[in-house]
Amino acid sequence: MKGRLTRALSGAAIVTLAMAAAPLLAEGPTDADLMNDAATPGDVLTYGMGPQAQRFSPLKAINASNVAKLVPAFAASLGGEKQRGQEAQPIVYDGTIYVTGSYSRVFAFDARTGEEKWQYDARLPEAIMPCCDVVNRGAAIYGDKIIFATLDAHMVALNRHTGKVIWNKQTADYQAGYSATAAPMVVKGKVIYGNSGGEFGITGAVEARDVNTGELVWRRPTIEGNMGTLNGKDNGITGKANASWTGDLWKTGGGATWLGGTYDPETNLLFFGTGNPAPWNSHLRPGDNLYTSSTLAIDPDTGVIKWHFQTTPHDGWDFDGVNEFIPFDATINGKPMKLGAKADRNGYFFVLDRTNGKFISASKFVMQTTWANGFNKNGRPNYNDANRPGAPGEAAKGSSVFASPSFLGGKNWMPMAYSQDTGLFYVPSNDWGMDIWNEPIAYKKGAAYLGAGFTIKPIAEDHIGALRAMDPRTGKIVWEYKNKAPLWGGVLSTAGNLVFTGTPEGYLKAFDARTGQELWKFQTGSGVVGSPVTWEQDGEQYVAVMSGWGGAVPLWGGEVAKSFKDINQGGSLWVFKLPR
Ligand code: CA
Ligand code: CA
Repeated sequence: MKGRLTRALSGAAIVTLAMAAAPLLAEGPTDADLMNDAATPGDVLTYGMGPQAQRFSPLKAINASNVAKLVPAFAASLGGEKQRGQEAQPIVYDGTIYVTGSYSRVFAFDARTGEEKWQYDARLPEAIMPCCDVVNRGAAIYGDKIIFATLDAHMVALNRHTGKVIWNKQTADYQAGYSATAAPMVVKGKVIYGNSGGEFGITGAVEARDVNTGELVWRRPTIEGNMGTLNGKDNGITGKANASWTGDLWKTGGGATWLGGTYDPETNLLFFGTGNPAPWNSHLRPGDNLYTSSTLAIDPDTGVIKWHFQTTPHDGWDFDGVNEFIPFDATINGKPMKLGAKADRNGYFFVLDRTNGKFISASKFVMQTTWANGFNKNGRPNYNDANRPGAPGEAAKGSSVFASPSFLGGKNWMPMAYSQDTGLFYVPSNDWGMDIWNEPIAYKKGAAYLGAGFTIKPIAEDHIGALRAMDPRTGKIVWEYKNKAPLWGGVLSTAGNLVFTGTPEGYLKAFDARTGQELWKFQTGSGVVGSPVTWEQDGEQYVAVMSGWGGAVPLWGGEVAKSFKDINQGGSLWVFKLPR
């Protein structure tokens, strides 16, 4: 009896001590937790399931031999009259799933029951100008905060327990065409993010703000000739003035960093893709137009560009170059190397030395690339000059060409995954082309700045979408899964020899990571254009994905619209697990 009482008392004492110490403990994820995210399967703290964004989970309770039994645990609706594309990746922490929704909304759901804990709706002005649907791709978590970007180019930090605003900062002028849809990231106590608006003649930039106050720390424009800042002072211009731009064109040069970035703790480098030069009509802007359609390596402490690699110099097709650059290590020609890979809108899969940006290889990952025939040893495309749409001159329209990929790209925003087990990248790609022609255009604040017209067309009878497993060491496609409608969702790979991705037809699907065999699918009720995640909770493995058809495809679909005309809108979070 006495012994029991003593144990009970000491237990109570421990509880009291823990409660007293609670305010001193971390109020939520720390910098170290974020950097370690990929190795901690009990939570999903970063966009990409780790700062390197490999989207690989070491979990294998759900695996190729039992995934066929996967069933829903619950679904949660985002409600609202307006649905549209749900492109978010969930964040999972401490029994809560945080998702962002269309029209700049944030939701916190109970991770065990799906019940809503809170919802935050940003008040958006009428005149926002997102080019490609009212999507949002996810939030960042840090301490007591959930941080996300809004369509009117604000960065907002919410209390993760209540959804109340902690700080709200305007990052750019939405009336000049700026917007924001990407998930921010937090590195070393700074919120780091890009901007959107490349179709409106904005100037791309990467910015870092103090995560606790929202104050700007540094700003790095992506277009040559623009001045960077650090702690409120000038910090050198980007590149060299007028080296790759004529006249004043660098003031409206595009290069939006609209997809956000990745971070590699090993090299202490941020990697940001940059979008198309503006306007699309390339005859109006002679030169390479640095640093558009490129990957930039940036110092997270100062915003200084450490190296760049341009995938489409003098882009004339809106190939953009914004796609994510994912660090990985591999042995190539007998040499262990620190590498990074990017599946570019232009249809080529790039492998670079991530320590210095040196070109290793570029391999075609789509059916057709009409604009170039591979890359030379320096990483410069072998252009097919006849496939560049013609200059309009005095005419209303220049000569039209059929170019492939289409401007929506061999791969667009939807993130690929890398498996540390198979050494393969899983690339959500699309096979399509376009008629494209140039038109005269002049810059006008807040107006579309394309100087081009286009019609998208399928190029294959049986598919547009194709999930492809790429071997980065050989550049070979190991397997592919073809989908009727364009693929527009992210990919997840797991140590259970599985690859998950969604389809516009409404399915979340699981594939054998080695063979590509389809092992499971579930109909979510609307198109899946979000990015799936997995985590462990109460000893079980869970998988979650957003469902809700939308994004750029139905807005710009052209002749490919036939492949998705019967797909309905939605807005739900779906969570799956194995039956007990
Ligand atoms: Ca984690
Ligand atoms: Ca673009």
